[in-house]
Parts: sequence; structure tokens; C-alpha cells
Amino acid sequence: MAEYAADLQRQGVTLGLVPTMGYLHEGHLSLVRLLEGRCDLKAASIFVNPIQFGQDEDLGRYPRDEERDLELLAEAGCGLVFCPDAADMYPSGFRTSVEVDTLSQPMCGRFRPGHFSGVATVVLKLFNLTRCSVAAFGLKDYQQAQILRRMVEDLNLPVELLFGETIREQDGLALSTRNAYLSPRERETAQAVPKALEWARRRASEDIRDCTELSRGISSILTSRPEVRVQYVELVDPESLEPRNQVGERVLVAVAAFVGTTRLIDNLIVGPGSTMKPIHGVNV
Ligand code: AMP
Repeated sequence: MAEYAADLQRQGVTLGLVPTMGYLHEGHLSLVRLLEGRCDLKAASIFVNPIQFGQDEDLGRYPRDEERDLELLAEAGCGLVFCPDAADMYPSGFRTSVEVDTLSQPMCGRFRPGHFSGVATVVLKLFNLTRCSVAAFGLKDYQQAQILRRMVEDLNLPVELLFGETIREQDGLALSTRNAYLSPRERETAQAVPKALEWARRRASEDIRDCTELSRGISSILTSRPEVRVQYVELVDPESLEPRNQVGERVLVAVAAFVGTTRLIDNLIVGPGSTMKPIHGVNV
């Protein structure tokens, strides 16, 4: 990959990258389309990155279907797919990691120690290996997006970042590879997540300014289903990710919840200054 990328660079061919962990869905493909007109060669990587998984997480059972992924990427106009092995990415002497301070601490960082360091490290390696000039990420993983934006700025990386809106199912559930773990019953229950966010969006634009009240309302919608276990509901500043007490301008509402054993995350920016449209398909 490194040699090929060097060749491309010598020929003046610019590369755009969508890093993924595979088992692709429309959310991933929307990011490939976001690269249109931004580079000469659209590329994706498929790599289930072991260092971003915790000990008790789902690395061993993470879904994979490389053949189907390659077909979908080709259809979406990807001219190159990079699928490295873990042993090549992390040979035995590997010792370096990238830590993006502060932004990595709240929200998912509280429950997944080491996760964002694993993400930042692999993304920097993928940027270096592919020499991409532009890369696209989804706002579904909002905290990840902010962390990577910080890393690019702090380390002066010559990569332009693009961010894609969250792509959702008909009933509002954010597309995620992990949705494949849900049983039909759990899948129905999972509707509570977009429903709680849409409730918060509406109430924040109408009458509720108090973040504690919004947070309580979100939690009670989520826990109205017995199979849902809330990990966090946070209302934070969309840039600094610091907690907010009041909905002034825009506030990021981020939730993580287990439905059965499947961990789902989702988020929405709410408040009078937000231009966020209602989540399509959700009735509150
Ligand atoms: P993953 O394969 O889960 O690591 O995701 C690869 C990229 O796709 C990340 O930038 C994610 O934020 C993005 N992504 C995942 N789900 C969605 C979605 N529903 N809508 C938009 N982007 C997504």
C-alpha cells in the first residue's frame, strides 16, 4: 500500500479515503459518495482494528463479509480497497499510540478506556499508508469525528476531513454494523433510541431549556422498554464536548444504550440554533 501510494503521489493522483471496519451498509457508502469530485481516486479501507476493542468487547464476533463489501465498494465507485492484516499493522515491536487529550474522556471514553487512542492511532497509520489528501467520516460517531478533527489540526496532518450525516433506517434507527446482532424483537425495541433523540429535538426547540430535564426525559423514553440499559445520556457542547446545563445555542445530545447485549450509540444536535431536521420516520 505504501509503495502504491507513493507511486500515485508521483503521478499526481490524489486519493480520498473512507476508513471502515467492513460489513458495509448505506452509511459507509454515503461516505464514499461524499468523496465524489474531491479526489482522483476514491478508496476505502476494511480493517477490524483490534486495538480499539476492549477486553470484554465484540472483536471476536464482529461481523465480516469481505466479498460483499468489495462488490458494494466497487459499485459505489471505489477504485482501491485496502484490507491489511492485524499482524502487518501491529507487528510485535509496535509501541506507539496517539492520545487526543480531553475530548477522549467523556461519553464513550468513560466506558471504553483506550478506545479512542486505538482509533486515532489506526487512522493516523491509514493516512500515512495511503497518503490520502481527503478522508470521510460519519457524524454517527460524533465524538470520534471531533477527536480526529483535533488530531489532524494538532499534528498538522495534510488531510482534509469531510463529515457525513447519519444515515438511518425507515424507522429512524441509525445504520450500524452492530445492528446485525439484534434479534427481531430487540430490533423493534431499538426504535426507542431515535425516538428519545427526536423527543429531545422537539422539546428543546419548543419549551425545555434545562438539560437535566431533557436528559431525564430521554432516559425515561429509553427505559420504558425493559430490555434497554442506558449507559449514558449526555448533553454537551458540540465542539468541546463539555457538559451543558442549558440549551442556549446548539447542544449535542449523545446516548449509548445496550439493547440486550448490543451496544448502540446515536446523537443529534438540538436547540434553537440547530438546523437539524426531524428524524424521518419517528413519531413521538
Ligand atoms: P465503522 O465501520 O463502524 O468503523 O464505520 C466506518 C465509518 O462509517 C465511520 O466514519 C462511521 O462514523 C461511519 N458510519 C457508520 N455508521 C454510519 C451511519 N449510519 N451514517 C453515516 N456514517 C456512518
